[in-house]
Amino acid sequence: MKKSFFAFSMAVLVGFIAAVTLCVQALNTPQTVGAFGEENMRIVVDAGHGGADGGVSGKTTGVKESDLNLAIAYRVSDVLTDMGFEITMTRKTEAGLYGTATKGFKKRDMQRRKEIIESVDPMLVLSIHQNRYPARSVRGGQVFYARESERGKALALSVQAELNELYGKEKVKERKATVGDYFILNCADCPSVIVECGFLSNPLDEKLLTTEIWQKKLAESIATGVVNYLSGAVA
Ligand SMILES: [Zn+2]
Repeated sequence: MKKSFFAFSMAVLVGFIAAVTLCVQALNTPQTVGAFGEENMRIVVDAGHGGADGGVSGKTTGVKESDLNLAIAYRVSDVLTDMGFEITMTRKTEAGLYGTATKGFKKRDMQRRKEIIESVDPMLVLSIHQNRYPARSVRGGQVFYARESERGKALALSVQAELNELYGKEKVKERKATVGDYFILNCADCPSVIVECGFLSNPLDEKLLTTEIWQKKLAESIATGVVNYLSGAVA
């Protein structure tokens, strides 16, 4: 009798531990589709520049911003896809979106990006870029949002907080999310941000940005910023 009671107690205990373990695992599982009460889980990830428009370039290695933007955009897309989001990238190759590089190609390129965003009708837009500044000591990621977009600002603050944490380990001065008057921020009513991942005018940032490990860390930080924004963790 005692023995069977002990066996019963152990079975209950094991069951309880299993249930708790499952709960803990559930809490640790990345947010998935529907987790934010959103039916629209579409995100446009825009790799800035491309083709004849290389953007800024690295002072040390000459790396083109357009190439880094594409590499990081792919990594951001991968992380967000794993979380259950539906990702559309505005460009998937090194080429720009303007056709031939004749007069007005930059305008055509931006117009095409707008058309893609409009056709997807996403929940939000992330545009990936790299920065530069005359003072070579300036480092760190910086996020821009449209002045009149409160939701864009909230998303920018959330992503900025993650970037600051990432760079904080590198003892980089924290940067602030900032209003920016950029075309890509005004292509749709949904929250849209430009993520300047770092400064190609700074040799240390340039070195980090070209490494796979840093690009992955950046992608995870950006995705965490998105999830925190959607879950209301950042006001
Ligand atoms: Zn750029």
